[in-house]
Amino acid sequence: MTEDLRKAYQRLFDLTKEIYILNSTLALLDWDEKTYIPKGGVEHRGNQLAYLAGLRHEKFTSAEIGDLLKQLEGGSLVSDPDSFETANIREIKHAYDKLVKIPKSLVEELTRVTTMAHGVWAEARQKSDFSLFLPYLEKIIRLKHQQAEIVGYEKDPYDALLDDFETGSTIEKVAKVFADFRSELVGLVKAISESPKRPDSSILTREFPVDRQERFGKEAASAIGYDFERGRLDLTVHPFCTGIGPGDVRITTRYNPKHFGQAFFGILHEAGHGIYEQGLDPERWGTPGGDSVSLGIHESQSRMWENMVGRSKSFWKFFFPKAQKLYPEALGKIKFDDFYFAINEVTPSFIRVEADEVTYNLHILIRFEIEQAFFSGNLPTKDIPGIWNEKFKSYFGILPPNDAEGCLQDVHWSMGYIGYFPTYSLGNLYAAQFFNQAKKELGDLEEQFARGEFSNLKRWLNEKIHKPGQRYRAEKLVEVVTGKPLSHRPLMDYLKGKYGQIYEV
Ligand code: ZN
Repeated sequence: MTEDLRKAYQRLFDLTKEIYILNSTLALLDWDEKTYIPKGGVEHRGNQLAYLAGLRHEKFTSAEIGDLLKQLEGGSLVSDPDSFETANIREIKHAYDKLVKIPKSLVEELTRVTTMAHGVWAEARQKSDFSLFLPYLEKIIRLKHQQAEIVGYEKDPYDALLDDFETGSTIEKVAKVFADFRSELVGLVKAISESPKRPDSSILTREFPVDRQERFGKEAASAIGYDFERGRLDLTVHPFCTGIGPGDVRITTRYNPKHFGQAFFGILHEAGHGIYEQGLDPERWGTPGGDSVSLGIHESQSRMWENMVGRSKSFWKFFFPKAQKLYPEALGKIKFDDFYFAINEVTPSFIRVEADEVTYNLHILIRFEIEQAFFSGNLPTKDIPGIWNEKFKSYFGILPPNDAEGCLQDVHWSMGYIGYFPTYSLGNLYAAQFFNQAKKELGDLEEQFARGEFSNLKRWLNEKIHKPGQRYRAEKLVEVVTGKPLSHRPLMDYLKGKYGQIYEV
């Protein structure tokens, strides 16, 4: 019997490995499309991607995979809930069930509607006219409700959507942590806004030649542990990281010759994602056990390196003298404290993607509260602009001048990505809780960073978070690594500690 199960298990992973190979081929084609493809190749690339995506769907929904899963679930290979075998079967089954349940007609309708909605959203944003986008958003919400009913959920249909990005998370748990977080964060943002202290941020908008930015970005990415033997850094319009497979993880950026930090912190961010992908177990590649956990956990890795490490005093004790040498005209005469303050400026602003480490989370909380309200039917969609502005005023103390800089700024809802936004703040919350634990276990990290020593932290992340792959889902991983369930406390304490000192509040 056990012998049969072993065989079935092996067969299942021969089949899923093919799906992983298709995925990684799609990822490479996608990377190429976003970096080097000549304009004339775009249409052909679309055909390649569509063909391979179709093939992947066909392979993944095959009857054989269904039969193997039936044979394996409940068997002796899944007796230990924390084993890799159990995790692999659990996650393959989870993805398989979703795929076979959703009818082709719904997938096609969603693609059709979101493709149109994207164009309409862009026009609505440009004209700052929410009423143009409204009928499309309503269609998307209806389709997403259908999807949720088909896929199923325990308590709340929103959970079915959240599950696409943060498997196993529920609105109940996320909403509780977010509410606790918000009640304290609003106060911190208010206190900072009222502080008379202001940095001279003009020191960051001098001349920073692109070739030197590239050199400096690569040096920092290498120092924190991104391996250029198994990775690259290329140019793109919207920076991203992609894991092609073992030994090949790629990050991208864009340079602004008149800004010190946009590319630099962007590179650290993507390198954080890249270090995660490079840290996955190559022996387990092609199974969930060798794959990243969720968007939120991925974001925890990028945000930790970008913000908690990359904007810390100790990090710059090591890198600021190098920056001064590299950009003598722009930074040669700048004092350390002034530079540190400038890269950590906090200002309430309308646009999420330009937000700082503190206010960023309020942008997310607003989106989460609103999408939850309109998806549950508690908020008529036509009232979104009004409620957006009302919340913005109460959380940030400022009122968006128009909907383009308010509820129309993000592309996500037009793509059908409802349930995506929370993963950004979950990433920050996970990051702070992991970072706290790392500090407890690794001694004086600050002192190590000041010496340019980042390998202890990287190794710790490799072992605790990267190597386990999807052995645990996000919620459980946090408990296994830190001994506690997810809480807003570590992030709030981190923000209060750091910015309380900078802004003297
Ligand atoms: Zn990211």
